[in-house]
Amino acid sequence: MTRTVQKYGGSSVATADHIKRVARLVGDRRRAGEEMVVVVSAMGDTTDDLIDLSKQINTRPPAREMDMLLSTGEIVSSALLSMALQADGVDAVSLTGAQAGIRTDAVSGRARISGIQGDRIERELAAGRVVIVAGFQGISDDFDVTTLGRGGSDTTAVALAAGINADRCEIYTDVAGIYTADPRICPSARPLRDIGYEEMLEMASTGARVMHARAVEVGALYGVEIYVKSTFDPSAPGTIIRKETMMEQGNKVRGIAHESRVAKVTLRGVPDRPGIAAKIFEPLAEAGVSVDTIVQNASIERLTDLTFTVAPGDRERALEVVNRLNQELGAAEIVSADDLGTVSIIGTGMASAPGYAARMFRTLFDQQINIDMISTSDIRITCVVAADKVADAVVALHNAFELDRQG
Ligand code: ADP
Ligand code: ASP
Ligand code: MG
Repeated sequence: MTRTVQKYGGSSVATADHIKRVARLVGDRRRAGEEMVVVVSAMGDTTDDLIDLSKQINTRPPAREMDMLLSTGEIVSSALLSMALQADGVDAVSLTGAQAGIRTDAVSGRARISGIQGDRIERELAAGRVVIVAGFQGISDDFDVTTLGRGGSDTTAVALAAGINADRCEIYTDVAGIYTADPRICPSARPLRDIGYEEMLEMASTGARVMHARAVEVGALYGVEIYVKSTFDPSAPGTIIRKETMMEQGNKVRGIAHESRVAKVTLRGVPDRPGIAAKIFEPLAEAGVSVDTIVQNASIERLTDLTFTVAPGDRERALEVVNRLNQELGAAEIVSADDLGTVSIIGTGMASAPGYAARMFRTLFDQQINIDMISTSDIRITCVVAADKVADAVVALHNAFELDRQG
């Protein structure tokens, strides 16, 4: 019997009618004889609404209570989907992350899955039920509810697929797969038939929120092939995320990713001594601030400037940490801004071929887009640019690398 894990995102379960539609899709597969485990996100903008609500109560809501609050969004949609299936005569049961045996560490708001205890799911499947699992949540060793970070239901699905040895893992969203760029800002973007884990991980970690980066990591680690498809057009082929199959990629750039808004913090005139970077970035990591691009200038007269980018929501925490440290660091000035974004080109073929960076910089220059910072990996180049230029940059790079053309 085929065992399938599916995941439906927030827009796929946004209203009662949407949930009934998902129930029909799931019911058809169950009737065709598949064992079905279905992970759901919170309905529509529920998670954002709950965050807004918490801020009306407490401007700095305690992280543990945020986990309790946000986990409820996915519990609502899982219970409703189970009801919809049962209304259609399909036996089903909804489970919270904890009931489904999703064990995590105790880091509120960005917990990592440590293991899956699949016995309850196995019992329900053996009884012939469709199992609906509330996404994006788990339980710590102390029985505290945890959440996995924004977009984390993808990770629930892929981890479950690995944990219960599913034959298929399907992520249903509001677009027909992984596109060469975000189709919302780049009209000529087209869906890729397949993409390797490595490239997908770079896309996801540089802003392509269609897949949670950690879901891709888990997929790569356990060899789970991930089918990304549209709930609204389920017959469209979609994209398979899997181990790279083609030996040589024709077009070396496979996709463009962007981040609409990032913040930067600059320390000006820091006395250049060994260990500055460690002194700054260790406390930032301890404070839970994740730093993306880092640029340190060559020092002039023993003074250097150091700039790093963070998510806009982390800017204040980053500034607090850096200002506290500055007694010791002795920077002349600490400044920050949050009117920036990033644009990245990604492709494994870039690793061995020169000239991609030059083409990227030339393209941005032709658009009169100033590059604030640059960072690279073997298979990615990221430029930090003004937030209001991000969309133009994506479209220009998509054209320059002819991503609308290759098959
Ligand atoms: P879900 O609620 O189903 O998890 P998300 O909103 O998290 O959906 O992710 C889907 C969205 O990701 C799309 O609507 C699209 O705007 C955006 N996106 C960004 N980059 C890409 C890309 N390269 N391919 C497809 N979608 C992308
Ligand atoms: N509901 C959560 C969020 O909006 C998790 C998810 O949708 O994957 O981030
Ligand atoms: Mg998502």
